[in-house]
Amino acid sequence: MVWLPHHGLGNKMISITSAFLYSLLKDKVLLLFFPDYMNDLFYESFPNTTWLLPSDFPITHVTSIFDKDPNRYGNLLRDKILSNDMNITNASIPLLAYLYLHLVHNNNDYDRMFYCEDGQLLLQQFPWLLLRSNQYFIPALFLIPMFEQELGLLFPERTTVFHLLGRYLFHPSNAVWGYVTRYYQAYLANAEEILGVQIRTFAEVDLDKHSSYIMNCAISKNLLPSLDTKDVAALSDTIRVKPKAVLVTSLKSEYFERIRDTYYRNATATGEVIGVYQPSHEEKQFTEKLDHNVKALAEIYLLSLSDSLIMSQYSTFGYVAQGLGGIRPWLLVRPDDENLCLQSSTMEPCFHFPPSFECKSRRELDLGSVVPYLRHCEDKAGGSSNR
Ligand code: GDP
Repeated sequence: MVWLPHHGLGNKMISITSAFLYSLLKDKVLLLFFPDYMNDLFYESFPNTTWLLPSDFPITHVTSIFDKDPNRYGNLLRDKILSNDMNITNASIPLLAYLYLHLVHNNNDYDRMFYCEDGQLLLQQFPWLLLRSNQYFIPALFLIPMFEQELGLLFPERTTVFHLLGRYLFHPSNAVWGYVTRYYQAYLANAEEILGVQIRTFAEVDLDKHSSYIMNCAISKNLLPSLDTKDVAALSDTIRVKPKAVLVTSLKSEYFERIRDTYYRNATATGEVIGVYQPSHEEKQFTEKLDHNVKALAEIYLLSLSDSLIMSQYSTFGYVAQGLGGIRPWLLVRPDDENLCLQSSTMEPCFHFPPSFECKSRRELDLGSVVPYLRHCEDKAGGSSNR
């Protein structure tokens, strides 16, 4: 099984984890294709060996294998060149050097036959599978009967899959670990408690409204103290109390500045003092820059060291932090409604685009209601995750 990257670091880490578990279940060797901008982020997970795709790998065009690839499983099914009940050794088709699994978010129902037992019976006849994904597709593996027993043994607690696999697989490089430890020691180690706030906006939002929504969430859920609007000097009794730290991560600095200024200008009703910190503000996503990715991974790790988390909806960057930290975050799910931020019912990442059909009948199916341990994600309609 060869894993190919797609999208940002969070997307990559959740799909590597999914590909790893799939390889384990299918007894396959997993190799990862890391472009240069990913090569100094992680240590090898397994001593005395490597999970990196060797440079002399005979399929030389891995960077260009995408939806138009002639060996795409979904298209070969659609065009009836392959069928899931086929025995390929008897079939009169030329042997393919590899089969390409297009498991990115915008794939089609043919590609998603991967999540069906029938599809798996065909796939196991191909020695080389190349997979490109930006999704956390583990919840769908739990629905494939041939994996049920093994998954039950591996994960009696279904909500710990990413927590256990993520901590097992991802070991930050010294470069990343340096960022994490220096920042932690300088700003967070002495705090009474750490609240992580991850702010990721996918569309234009009103800065004032969104900042006050985030503050309302933190205060109404008792994650931060409310403000003392009467006594501007209310601190004296609690002068020796350790500060609470708020770790903000965002591509922008404006949210951080507002939260920091709020607790600089105002005393708190509890007398606590609040330190607000943001390690970087990169302004834009630069997926293809190593230094940018080092900071991103360091910040994911720092967030995972929080005691509680407020997360933007729909962000895989946040999913990795909550999963590594084993934290059920408060999700900023309804920016249009000041009062609504919801605690996630799980620490598991959400599978944003699961199959929406029943394998045998191909009839439409709502994956969030099919078995008791799968649920709809609070932050993505149509998504599902383990609970
Ligand atoms: P998603 O797009 O939110 O699902 O998360 P990804 O991690 O897949 O992609 C977002 C990318 O943007 C990250 O990998 C970083 O490169 C960058 N990014 C987004 N938010 C932050 C942040 O708070 N801090 C840093 N350093 N980078 C960020």
